[in-house]
Amino acid sequence: MNRIIKILIASDFVIYFAWGLLTPIFAVFITRNIRGGTLAVIGIAEAIFLASKSICQLIFADYLDIEPSDKKNLYWAISGSFIFSFAVLLYLVCYLPIHLYLVELVLGVSSAMAYPSWYALFIRNLNPRKKAFSLSFHNTSIDGGTALAAAIGGLIANCFGFPVLIYLVAALSLVGTFLLIVLYKPLNILEQKEMAESKIDFLPVKVTKSFESIPGQILPIRKYGDSILRTKAKLIKEVDDSIVELAKNMLATMYKNNGCGLAAPQVGVSHRLIVIDIGDGPIILANPKILKKSRRKIYSLEGCLSFPGLTLNLMRSKNVMIEGFQITDGRRVKIQAEGLLARGLLHEIDHLDGILFIDKLVFWRKWKINKYLKELKKKTKQSIKERQSMKNVGIVL
Ligand code: ZN
Repeated sequence: MNRIIKILIASDFVIYFAWGLLTPIFAVFITRNIRGGTLAVIGIAEAIFLASKSICQLIFADYLDIEPSDKKNLYWAISGSFIFSFAVLLYLVCYLPIHLYLVELVLGVSSAMAYPSWYALFIRNLNPRKKAFSLSFHNTSIDGGTALAAAIGGLIANCFGFPVLIYLVAALSLVGTFLLIVLYKPLNILEQKEMAESKIDFLPVKVTKSFESIPGQILPIRKYGDSILRTKAKLIKEVDDSIVELAKNMLATMYKNNGCGLAAPQVGVSHRLIVIDIGDGPIILANPKILKKSRRKIYSLEGCLSFPGLTLNLMRSKNVMIEGFQITDGRRVKIQAEGLLARGLLHEIDHLDGILFIDKLVFWRKWKINKYLKELKKKTKQSIKERQSMKNVGIVL
């Protein structure tokens, strides 16, 4: 097991241990400290915790998956555990069922922040050859921690009273949270290493054909439902006739359709090539790569030629730094972009990785356009079928 997995398990062990001190005797706490603390109140409190956690974790997980990153997951795991640790202390001031229900709601929501982000970190950093062992080790440690806590939680409450026990639960949960903070440095190093390694795949292009010598043709645009839009595009190793022709055709197709950006998969070619023109002249980039994205994000309206008539208000980084190769001269260029150009570059580079702008929507916003998506997909499948049957007929002379 690597260091990141060990720290994640250690943090979970401490938090489960802390929580395990209280849970077996929680019913006694309620009957003693809450006015009208009946068995029904205990049941409702537990139901509120589980319901709020179950619902919120789906919503949060959906958001975390939009632009997944270890750092984002870590922030969420730390924030959730941090809120959880302090919310436990609110038990000390509860004396009515409604107080208890509110505390359970806060605990449920904070757990929902920590769970999906913790699991995302755990799964992503698992050693692929030690998956079963790491998962079992995690299970064994939290079961062991809970069992140990169950044995001594009652003892502490008996000897020192519930307030001491609750302070202890909060303090140990904070220790678990601080263990997560320790992860910031190794995850940061890992992210930088991954960025450095991914540059190895970044191949320069060799220009063997003059760009100006080929006129552009208008190509049909692939729409949502076409599998090429979900395929990761291949790196361009050499700019030969076909690539120059493709770039020219993409520009002509983009201008004809009043678009300001187009990626090669949108015209049916799985190559890492994008064209953009936001009014300052065309930018044509082979093998574009995001070097940096600003943490500051802004909402703006965005369309896509593969989704006719659909405009979405999406949040994206305000500034980006892109690296790529100009196919006109094979020069390696860095582009520092902001606003519309930054948005366009991010949108088109997403296309090269099979990511579509609808993937940036949380599920209820996607649900609102479900009818549109279904109809477009159906239409696309139909036109693919027609295209294939035309091919099968062949040329009749
Ligand atoms: Zn698009």
